[in-house]
Amino acid sequence: MELTDSVQYLKGVGPALARKFERLDIRTLEDLLCHYPRRYVDFTQCHPVASAPFGEDCVVRVRIHSKLGCTRLSGGRTLYRALAADDSAALSLSWFNAPYTYDSLQVGQEYYFVGRVGGTLTRREMISPAARRPQQVAGAPLAPVYPQTEGLSSTVIARCVAQALEGLGPLEEDLPSPILQKYRLPGRDEAVRAIHRPTSAQQAAAARRRLMFEELFILQCGVLLMRDHGSRLTGAPMQPRDLAPFWAALPFPPTGAQRRAAGEISADLAGPAPMNRLLQGDVGSGKTLVAAAGIWQAAQNGYQSALMAPTEILAVQHADNLQDLLGPLGIRVALLTGSTKGAERRKTLEAIAGGQADLVVGTHALLSQGVEFARLGLAVVDEQHRFGVRQRGLLAAKAQSPHLLVMSATPIPRTLALLLYGDLDISLLDELPPGRSPVKTWLISSKKRQDMFGFLADQIRQGRQIYIVCPLIEENAESPAGEKQAAREYLEKIARPGLPGCRLGLLHGRMKPAEKAKVMDQFKAGELDALISTTVIEVGVDVPNATVMVIENAERYGLSALHQLRGRVGRGSRQSCCILISDHEEAAVRDRLRFLCHTSDGFAIARYDLEHRGPGDFFGQAQHGLPSLKLASLADSGALAAAQQEARALLKEDPALRQDCHQPLAHRVEKLFEASGPMN
Ligand code: ADP
Ligand code: MG
Repeated sequence: MELTDSVQYLKGVGPALARKFERLDIRTLEDLLCHYPRRYVDFTQCHPVASAPFGEDCVVRVRIHSKLGCTRLSGGRTLYRALAADDSAALSLSWFNAPYTYDSLQVGQEYYFVGRVGGTLTRREMISPAARRPQQVAGAPLAPVYPQTEGLSSTVIARCVAQALEGLGPLEEDLPSPILQKYRLPGRDEAVRAIHRPTSAQQAAAARRRLMFEELFILQCGVLLMRDHGSRLTGAPMQPRDLAPFWAALPFPPTGAQRRAAGEISADLAGPAPMNRLLQGDVGSGKTLVAAAGIWQAAQNGYQSALMAPTEILAVQHADNLQDLLGPLGIRVALLTGSTKGAERRKTLEAIAGGQADLVVGTHALLSQGVEFARLGLAVVDEQHRFGVRQRGLLAAKAQSPHLLVMSATPIPRTLALLLYGDLDISLLDELPPGRSPVKTWLISSKKRQDMFGFLADQIRQGRQIYIVCPLIEENAESPAGEKQAAREYLEKIARPGLPGCRLGLLHGRMKPAEKAKVMDQFKAGELDALISTTVIEVGVDVPNATVMVIENAERYGLSALHQLRGRVGRGSRQSCCILISDHEEAAVRDRLRFLCHTSDGFAIARYDLEHRGPGDFFGQAQHGLPSLKLASLADSGALAAAQQEARALLKEDPALRQDCHQPLAHRVEKLFEASGPMN
């Protein structure tokens, strides 16, 4: 048996079961071994039958007194029953339709049963409990409970894992032994076997600790390997510039934070090493302006800049804004997106290659072949988390070690930023431009939707504009066509009757970029009163006259995503508000949404997200481009820091992981990042 063998290699696993495994993302035996138990049933923690907790899963140890055989029930069901007892009380056991456990029981023998105790105080019963013989429990006192899927139970998974562990030879070690010693971690073979079949809770915990560390370490090695290690010197050396003429040309004075961040960038650009800086600022904090300061300085030094945005709408908006800001300063701005075609594209490419464009704004079309810069000195990537880690590197690869500025509106805790972006410096915009008042946020149920429309109509009458993010339907993820239909239906059945006589626009992910741009232009020009949209407006759109953001099914989004959406309003001087609609009743969900109502601090919100949901959710559908973690948590900053420190030390010694002893590790890194999808 090999790790790369399909699970079908296991006895009892045919194509049908393999398909079910696939639903859990398990294809090979290696995948199977990485499917870790969620928890364990601890058979050493038995309850006396008389005092077993009611209605909760628990373990009892009882002797079988009699087997009552089977009874046919109406509806074709069969009931198998047995009577048992321990010193404290009698227990009735029953199974429906499944003779397997029942048949295996012997009268007079003792067994452990795990399940829910029900019945009455005087007549206790367990329905469909799983059974274990005392010898089995002695060998494996902790039974793993796996994440399961329909038709593939934890028990079946456990049986397959056991078979694989028996059939496979010792698993190869992938962590360097000094690290194992330093952190007192068990070896890989021991850890993998122990996490699936521990002999004690301590052993399980040690195994988990080791595998978590391994996961973070491999992730870190990957992140660090993707960065450019070769270049110590920048390929775009620049002279320091006094930014005064730039500030003087602006329509408004910069905030203190903008001035500080621009100064930091300025110093980096004039330094000997390529800049590698993350600019973090809450939505609306004015990051574009700071980038413009860097772009201006690069142009003063005769270098081109590129700015990459995640969507076409944003690229167009950036190009417009930067043209307004930088055009008067003599900077020539070009736009390159997927919609730039034919003669126009050829002309633009020529301007980029010939150096007639000082700034090229675009989408990931900037990364495509044929885009050659004459003298790229500064690469700016906006809303970074929407791009994979590798794409950022690709833009930088368009020149010899250019300076790199990454802008993010999701305020990521510092430790996490370092993990995601590696060794970079961080500038913080912790101050909003003057005259902004915090956006008032309410949580309402759909019963109040009618009242809300009254309020919206009133706002529209006062000349304001409105965004409505329409409900996201679960199936839409799989059928993007459904998204279009859901958005249309919302517009016709709910919004139009709710806002009679108002001018409504529709924006959804299935529209062509040109169609989207047209609707956005109309909205910007004030020709539409309300924009009904799926979340394509999530990032960056800037329409100061819009004062209300309505979000249907708010519970579907992470807080950071909601905060981003909310950031679309409150950009002008008028009081703005955000209305979250949710009928979800779960306390945790309501707490989460209420937290947003009371907090406008993006950092606090990001932290809440990170602690209460997984890291994937934190970025909204794992858009950070990193592989997802199975065991480790990005919130565990201690383990994270240790893993990063070790990865860094190792790569210093063996920068490309070429040494023989690092081959198992190199393979794991490759596999992890290969699973996270193609480059684009
Ligand atoms: P974000 O950080 O979300 O990308 P933007 O760069 O889009 O923010 O800026 C948000 C809005 O604030 C824009 O309309 C911009 O013109 C405006 N703005 C930026 N800096 C200032 C400032 N110092 N004073 C006033 N308005 C500003
Ligand atoms: Mg922005």
